[in-house]
Amino acid sequence: MALARFLRSCEEISPRLLTADPDIIAPLCTDWTRRMTGKALGLVRPSNEEELAAVVGAAVEEGVQLQLQGGNTSLVAGATPLGDTVLVTSARMRAVQEPDLVSLSITAEAGATAAEVNAALAPHRLKLGVDLASRDSATIGGMVATNAGGIHVVRYGSMRAQLLGIRLVTPAQGAIGRLSPLYKDNTGPHLAAIAAGSEGTFGMVVAAALRAVPVLSESVVALMSFPSFSAVAEAVRRIRLSPAVSALEFMTASGMDLVSRHLGRTPPVAGAVYLLAEFESAFPLLDHVAAVVDDASPSTSALAFDRRGRAELWRWREAHTEAIATAGIAHKMDVSLPISRLEEFVEWVEGPFAADNPDLHIYLFGHLGDGNVHVNLVGAESDDLATDEAVLSKAAAMGGSISAEHGIGRLKAPLLHLVRTSSEIAALRALKDAFDPDGILNSGVLLPSRTGGHAISGVAPGRLA
Ligand SMILES: Cc1cc2nc3c(=O)[nH]c(=O)nc-3n(C[C@H](O)[C@H](O)[C@H](O)COP(=O)(O)OP(=O)(O)OC[C@H]3O[C@@H](n4cnc5c(N)ncnc54)[C@H](O)[C@@H]3O)c2cc1C
Repeated sequence: MALARFLRSCEEISPRLLTADPDIIAPLCTDWTRRMTGKALGLVRPSNEEELAAVVGAAVEEGVQLQLQGGNTSLVAGATPLGDTVLVTSARMRAVQEPDLVSLSITAEAGATAAEVNAALAPHRLKLGVDLASRDSATIGGMVATNAGGIHVVRYGSMRAQLLGIRLVTPAQGAIGRLSPLYKDNTGPHLAAIAAGSEGTFGMVVAAALRAVPVLSESVVALMSFPSFSAVAEAVRRIRLSPAVSALEFMTASGMDLVSRHLGRTPPVAGAVYLLAEFESAFPLLDHVAAVVDDASPSTSALAFDRRGRAELWRWREAHTEAIATAGIAHKMDVSLPISRLEEFVEWVEGPFAADNPDLHIYLFGHLGDGNVHVNLVGAESDDLATDEAVLSKAAAMGGSISAEHGIGRLKAPLLHLVRTSSEIAALRALKDAFDPDGILNSGVLLPSRTGGHAISGVAPGRLA
């Protein structure tokens, strides 16, 4: 049988590659939100590029489906294995090189977490330009594959903007790409940019060369409250003009109440809508931030200058995802809007949409500086796609995107047509066919499955077929 031959090949590549230990495999088969559970026919843990290339080669030879996984923090079931698939994890490929202090760059293997890369950069007063609340688990490979965004996109851009070089193992080409820290390389389309956001459907990231940015000595965090979203929208317009802004996040009262109960604390300011702004500079910031906050005209504000105070204010924003997870299994819609239409979108969610769905608890927060709203719905059935579709269709109709940063994964693959024309989907399929002609990688992720067999609709709640 093809699967047995594949597993035998893996044993021949290295006796350490395969595991069938259910205690190791089981937690990797449920996604972070607990909305989806699949199963894996086995788990392969390559330690280096050679082993990975041999595994992918054997899978092509035997026609075995592979599901790639990094830190398993995907919020769109992109890393959850389907029934007839073997899970391949980057967990053993996590070497981080010493930073290149002249190029201001660092090279790390795919399985290294964002926190591990930052730990290597910190002694040199450097850091990654991308930071996210899942930093202790999210891996470089997963972050490239999803083109992760996070809290500093407003200043440094998303993962694609950090990528200088890449090594990738694809089913058709084997190991390709290079890791030189070249800031400029116009020898055709940039392979790293093509891989960014491809969600593991073109190949598995082995390692990436990334930009490093300086840690700035001055940092101030402001938590502000406002009576309405329209007041916040005006404040954002003003704050975005500050060259020192490095994060601009928003939360609403329902989410802050939940976080307050979760943390057992009371927020230092109170209002209907909250804005968290971070300012960073190599120059003194006190007068500048005081003037910016004053100009933003919040009802109340709290400023923090020291590391502990800043972390405490950030906790109000970053604890949202974990607090919502304690309230139930959330449907997570990660949309972006033209910033000029954010207010209209939020009013629609809190107005007509909420009225049509009185049983749902709605929590909104997000990266306001990037026009990115995370719509969290607690109370809908796991396989209820209609509520997801209503929110995503609205965002698309308003000129937005159905995925600002989490990707399409399996959850949104059937809805890709909301933002991509059939010609654009055909172009994506042509790229997929060039890298993975037999379709062995991450079937059903990003692109709707050709057979429809992996679509999420119609499956029992909480389970992938
Ligand atoms: C608390 C919390 C906060 C979050 N905040 C943010 C945020 O601010 N911004 C943001 O963008 N995301 C955020 N996320 C989502 C998630 O952390 C990101 O999508 C992250 O990039 C996923 O990395 P991972 O290693 O966990 O990948 P996984 O979840 O393991 O996989 C994600 C996708 O990448 C593919 N993949 C994984 N490794 C590789 C590889 N080596 N090569 C090719 N493909 C691969 C998988 O097949 C899958 O399709 C958050 C998640 C949580 C739980």
